[in-house]
Amino acid sequence: PLVLSDRINAMQESQTIAMAKKARELAAQGVDVISLSFGEPDFQTPQYIKDAAKKALDEGFTFYTPVPGYPDLRQAICDKFKRDNQLDYKPENIVVSTGAKQALANAVLSLVNPGDEVIVFSPYWVSYEEMVRLADGTTVQLVGSLENDFKVTAAELEAAITPRTKLIMYSSPCNPTGAVFSRQELSAIAEVVARNPQVYVLADEIYEYINFVGEHVSIAQFAAIKDRVITVNGFSKGYAMTGWRVGYLAASKEIACACEKMQSQITSGTCAMTQRAALAALQGGRSSADEMVEAYRRRRDLVLELVKEIPGFRTPTPSGAFYIFPDVTGYFGKTTPTGEVIKSAMDLSLFMLHDAHVAAVDGSAFGAPNCIRFSTAAADEKLREAFIRLKNSLAKLK
Ligand code: PLP
Repeated sequence: PLVLSDRINAMQESQTIAMAKKARELAAQGVDVISLSFGEPDFQTPQYIKDAAKKALDEGFTFYTPVPGYPDLRQAICDKFKRDNQLDYKPENIVVSTGAKQALANAVLSLVNPGDEVIVFSPYWVSYEEMVRLADGTTVQLVGSLENDFKVTAAELEAAITPRTKLIMYSSPCNPTGAVFSRQELSAIAEVVARNPQVYVLADEIYEYINFVGEHVSIAQFAAIKDRVITVNGFSKGYAMTGWRVGYLAASKEIACACEKMQSQITSGTCAMTQRAALAALQGGRSSADEMVEAYRRRRDLVLELVKEIPGFRTPTPSGAFYIFPDVTGYFGKTTPTGEVIKSAMDLSLFMLHDAHVAAVDGSAFGAPNCIRFSTAAADEKLREAFIRLKNSLAKLK
């Protein structure tokens, strides 16, 4: 019989992908499912970026690429860091990868030893915990309070750090909560990190451009810890390029070299045509992202209005990204028309799928088992229809 590795047996299937699969199965049976489970922009990649990819193919960009990315793309990423984040990097500090996901995995696998503790600000993005597990590290979930929009404070971080802490990981704007750390909050966190020289920071800024409050702060801006910060970003969200698979990180030269080495043995340099498209994306600035952000803001406001009609959802106002993340404990203990008791957000999300035909992801995958994540990256009419259905279905719970 086939014996799979302990490593793969210990790995969880991605809950977001599992829920999307369930929704697709129902849809295949002819059910009109509205899927709000996936974290994917519903916009097409801007035309100028597609054109650059077509041109690259015609120009013969079909060969292996340098492992850390084309030099001109790495330079353009440095220019972006300077323009948007007031950060000085050289191309040697940049590693381009197959999505921000690979950049995160490169960093975790390059830094974490067996038994090292990785403090993950919770709720967190699904893959962080599995990446830490792959590196044989120990995840320490540090849960931010609902009252503080789920944001972990510097004091909470300080109390969680031990001599074994190697890394802290968070996203801002946050998937799943939409929370955005302010300059003041990150400054206080940076001070804690500065006092603990064994601690590194993996800052996931993939939603940088999808920000409704204005200022995006990179923790690498705090000079005392810059060399211990790995900043991850990419093109999937801001440029609606999920299927192209390109992201990057910026780090000290030593860490960047380690990530390059990791990548050289696993995937090599990312797709040639994609890298040329990414270069064009950066050269085009961020105006296409700004247009999309207006749509995301409108949808967030629409959904927050619609959610007000649903009793029992406690929903912080997201400052960025494209999700809402209500706490749904108000429904625990209630009974469905067929007599099942709702005991968890998982039970509630399954009820919503089967009764309202709305797919969303329960928060346990994000370290928040009392919450449910709804993506707001869908057309306005779909969002309206989804939340009206939910209101009607949830009213059946007694
Ligand atoms: N980080 C966060 C917080 C995300 O939500 C996602 C995608 O959903 C990623 C990273 C991965 O991005 P990419 O598509 O660039 O691999």
